[in-house]
Amino acid sequence: MIDRRTNAPIPTPTPPTGVRRDDGLDCEICGARMQERSCKITCRNCGFTRDCSDP
Ligand SMILES: [Zn+2]
Repeated sequence: MIDRRTNAPIPTPTPPTGVRRDDGLDCEICGARMQERSCKITCRNCGFTRDCSDP
């Protein structure tokens, strides 16, 4: 039995690197994604919290 495997390309999801929006929702401590909630932006990674009214 001849097992001919097709050299099919593996679908690898490539996120658009380089495209980064500066929306101020990145933790300045660890760089993780922050979550805004009731005018409080909290980092779910390190727990850093900042006010949304801060520049
Ligand atoms: Zn953080």
